[in-house]
Amino acid sequence: MKLHRKRLVTAILSTCCLALGGCQFGSKDRYAPIIAAPQLVRSEILGYSVLNRPIELITVGAGTEKVLIIATIHGNEDAGTPLVERLLDELRVRPSLLADRTVLIVPVANPDGYALRTRGNASGIDLNRNFPASNRINNEIHGEGGLTEPESTILHDLILTQGPTHIVTIHQPLYCLDYDGPGEDIAKHMGRFCSLPVKKLGSRPGSLGSFAGVEQKIPIITMELAKEDSDLTDTELWTQYGYALLAAITYPELPY
Ligand SMILES: [Zn+2]
Repeated sequence: MKLHRKRLVTAILSTCCLALGGCQFGSKDRYAPIIAAPQLVRSEILGYSVLNRPIELITVGAGTEKVLIIATIHGNEDAGTPLVERLLDELRVRPSLLADRTVLIVPVANPDGYALRTRGNASGIDLNRNFPASNRINNEIHGEGGLTEPESTILHDLILTQGPTHIVTIHQPLYCLDYDGPGEDIAKHMGRFCSLPVKKLGSRPGSLGSFAGVEQKIPIITMELAKEDSDLTDTELWTQYGYALLAAITYPELPY
């Protein structure tokens, strides 16, 4: 996992360098010669966690079709982070995938939980139960109201500001492609490119799926990877799930 974190920081630094058109790291970036339009990759800090860790957004492309991909909203379900890092590599070398598309990536939505190896954030709140959906349940785990936490508020505001065409959020360990709102067709499309079965799990109270999918009517697909996927390298994760992620980006077209 330390390797993953180190690589993530490297990826973000590289992204910043690309966005800035070069810096002390830029000349060493292995992808720099390949990128035709470096201004199409940029990194920004959306805000900060309870323990003041930054929450990053990496934006790739400038098309009208916007796909938002969120990893590690549950801090101990962290396989999505190296997977989206590998996705960034792929988008850098295959910019044709971005034709008329923008990919918004939040590599670590719950940075305190990621560091502490906990499902919830540093206040013990399950962020994926902290959204202002009508089915939410107020309690000490879900929060005593919607958006009591900075991390869930950041995602909520990002969705309302950006208006993504659809959303992919990456969890573990239920090993399926779940969906909320009008997301079934996209889930099936993704399912053609990985072994995860499409399975409707049902909308959880106060979840991102309930808020964005059911109520905002934004198709949202939950990639539930396997528990042991946290032990895989980013290349191994990519082999298993990479084309399903690309299929989410290129839907309804094929990811080739
Ligand atoms: Zn989860």
